[in-house]
Amino acid sequence: MELTIRKMSDERALLIRGGTVVPMTGRGWFTGDVLVAGNRIAAVAETVQAPAGCATLDAADALVLPGFVQTHVHVVQSLARHRAEERPLLRWLRERIWPYEAALVADEVDAAARLGIGELLCGGTTSVLDMGTTHGQDVVFEAAEAMGLRFTSGKAMMDLGDGVPPGLTEDTDASLAESERLGRRWHGAAGGRLRYALAPRFVLSCSERLMRETVGLARRHGYMLHTHASENPDETRYVRELTGRGNVAYLADLGMAGTDTVLAHCVHLDDDEVAGLARLGTGIAHCPGSNLKLASGIADVPRLLAAGCRIGLGADGPPCNNRLSIFHEMALAGTLHNLRHGAGAVDAWTVLELATWRGAQTLGLGSQVGRLLPGHLADIVVLGLDAWSAEPVAEPADVIVFGMGVENVRHVVVDGRVVVEGGRLLSEDAARVRGRARAAGTAIAARLGWS
Ligand SMILES: [Zn+2]
Repeated sequence: MELTIRKMSDERALLIRGGTVVPMTGRGWFTGDVLVAGNRIAAVAETVQAPAGCATLDAADALVLPGFVQTHVHVVQSLARHRAEERPLLRWLRERIWPYEAALVADEVDAAARLGIGELLCGGTTSVLDMGTTHGQDVVFEAAEAMGLRFTSGKAMMDLGDGVPPGLTEDTDASLAESERLGRRWHGAAGGRLRYALAPRFVLSCSERLMRETVGLARRHGYMLHTHASENPDETRYVRELTGRGNVAYLADLGMAGTDTVLAHCVHLDDDEVAGLARLGTGIAHCPGSNLKLASGIADVPRLLAAGCRIGLGADGPPCNNRLSIFHEMALAGTLHNLRHGAGAVDAWTVLELATWRGAQTLGLGSQVGRLLPGHLADIVVLGLDAWSAEPVAEPADVIVFGMGVENVRHVVVDGRVVVEGGRLLSEDAARVRGRARAAGTAIAARLGWS
């Protein structure tokens, strides 16, 4: 098959040539090319004749896939990585994460965000849903805008909570007003690559009024809703004591449910909550690495998939994982559920779907990213096969899910722009980003008295 592309003279063009193309439109693959025109995919075929002067990326001995999607991360937590160990969720929050977030100043927010975004991009993740902290969210968006990530995010909202330091507890109206200001500034910015999400942290740090008015604000403006829910047994029990209902059921009663909502974790659910999540199309962010590290439990993903739920993967925060690698989450999602359901409980192709089009669907981006299709936004990752654990090369899903890591990421394209080439971040000086993060992380740990 040969395709000739016309009418591209006034657009940037890029040919990703000679790779094993895994378009995620089914479970197939073929050797071929992907042509990008402007910020969209123009052609995906065995042979594409590119216009003269078209830039090229070499995909020989490599797999070409849609860029990976993570449905729950916290890039602002990056400076607390490796410093919040051996704690379950509520102690982890009270003793480490909340004091850390309360102490962050704008320059540290910037250093943290750039560390996290650089790690995501170099690891092949092209779209995320992120939750910030209560302040400094403009800086986070500025970093995402500059570095080229497709980024949906919102400041954390929290107006109460046991053990929340004074610097993080917000006035309810001020939290809503600041969220609305941020949404007006950032939703749809960078040609639509940036979107705003309203992000009340979780039930235990939000009044019912804050939750209700947040839902109203989201629906008035078309912003996504994002919160944590039913992550940990103690959290879930406290929510039931406070509200008389299950966590997910309570949120649904307040309107925080449906296809514009993503709930991180959903580990501890009753039957009605599972049915409600499926019926309403509420998105679920499955974060197996974080759930294991904090001993939270194991979300029953085979059951949720069988019920028809929308699910994606997420690394959660660097202090609870301790990496933002989609490969780590994929390997866990492909193995962890065997404990309850037997070998092959979530097969490798399904895991790859969670990391691509199912994740995109969870974020409301399913018609635009997550598959290599002409007309889709050009978010693409090229994974080199020149690695020990890739051999002998077999079915791509098995090779990627069980045999690959971030070291396999060769090239990354977001919105038609090459952001990683030959494993090197192009939009920032990686050594400078890491150097700033090390200095800032050391300084904040010293201020907080962390050994
Ligand atoms: Zn989280």
